[in-house]
Amino acid sequence: MNIEKVNVREIAKQFGTPVYVYSLRILRESIAEIMPLSPVVRFSMKSCSNTTILKEMLSLGIKIDAVSVPEIQRALKAGYSAEDICLTSDVFFTAEDAEFCLKTQIFCSCGSLGMLEEYGETRQRLGFGSDSVSIRINPGEGAGHSKKTNTGGPYSKHGIWYENLDEAKAIAEKYGLRITGVHTHIGSGGDMEHLSRITGKLVDFAKGFPDLRVINFGGGLPYEYDPEKPQIDISTYHPILEERTQELEAHFGRPITCEIEPGRRFVAGCGFLIGEVRSLNHTFNENKKRLDYVLTNIGFCHLLRPMAYGSYHPIWFVGDELGEETDIIVAGPVCESGDVLTQKNDEPVPRRLPRPKRGDLVVIGGAGAYGHVMSSNYNSQPLIPEVLVDGDQMTQIRRRQTLDDVIREEIG
Ligand SMILES: *Cc1c(COP(=O)(O)O)cnc(C)c1O
Repeated sequence: MNIEKVNVREIAKQFGTPVYVYSLRILRESIAEIMPLSPVVRFSMKSCSNTTILKEMLSLGIKIDAVSVPEIQRALKAGYSAEDICLTSDVFFTAEDAEFCLKTQIFCSCGSLGMLEEYGETRQRLGFGSDSVSIRINPGEGAGHSKKTNTGGPYSKHGIWYENLDEAKAIAEKYGLRITGVHTHIGSGGDMEHLSRITGKLVDFAKGFPDLRVINFGGGLPYEYDPEKPQIDISTYHPILEERTQELEAHFGRPITCEIEPGRRFVAGCGFLIGEVRSLNHTFNENKKRLDYVLTNIGFCHLLRPMAYGSYHPIWFVGDELGEETDIIVAGPVCESGDVLTQKNDEPVPRRLPRPKRGDLVVIGGAGAYGHVMSSNYNSQPLIPEVLVDGDQMTQIRRRQTLDDVIREEIG
């Protein structure tokens, strides 16, 4: 199996396993698909924050949506200027965060009444900073591939509830702020139909803000993880966004900037996680049916999505003599029974795969988004390297942690 022109065994030999690999060609293909959708396109950098990826995005004219001050700082280090970055959050984690954004002139989208208030208060106290802010609106409904990634509706902490917009206006007035942006992001992994409906709702809310300059429709562009199924067509989003923006421009009689900020759709497909089959095991269930386990060195410390959301990722084994296809549960090395790559609703789900042998490679697809960024040192596992493949070239863009790295901040 190759990633671009590089054999995965070559990558495993050179960098060891597990290792994250990004295909530059696939990344550029998805960028080329997304860029025409909206005049301003931001990358929701939490989905894949490696500096090399950020720089690639920057070189192609993509801006940044950050969700924390450290993300803003990381984007600045990667070469973005402050006007390329907006912060979307429900909270300032500290008063210094609000101060940082005001000083650095980061456009903030306030996702709670409290955050708007804190922005206004801090600006008043400092006596400087932009009077122009955005608010994130919870339109009353959400979408997502999992409850945990649905960020709209009454059970979401995100955004100013659509019935509380007058309160937001009152806060803005109290502090002399102008609400020049409205924003919504209803969830990750929804569908196109839902997205279009929500854009209509946001436009209706936006009309109530006389200072409006920017409308941000959020991220949430879907990605189909199963390579057997057709990829979801996102091109239909462009005419919808255009129509919505024109409606607003007609309403206000001036240009309005339309923005989107996808994460997943940019990077999910370009990422692969290569590991190794370490051992085989099997059990028998209550009906005496044999359950085959393939134990790999890829655990939820490296890829959390299957355990956190029951997410599906394509899996391939690479070996000289793969066996017959059989029902296999693919699991990892972490000492917890939830450490299973093939699962749904907290239950292992066997998948038809050719039976591998110890030492064969395992390749997980769709690993570019919410992959490395969500990894951890659980079980004292060092964070794993990231490699960029471009044609026949491999470039390491993060080295493997050592045990010393893992315990470096400990004291005593
Ligand atoms: C996570 C996030 C996104 C990106 O969501 P995707 O589903 O990855 O496109 C966009 N905007 C905000 C505010 C987010 O928190």
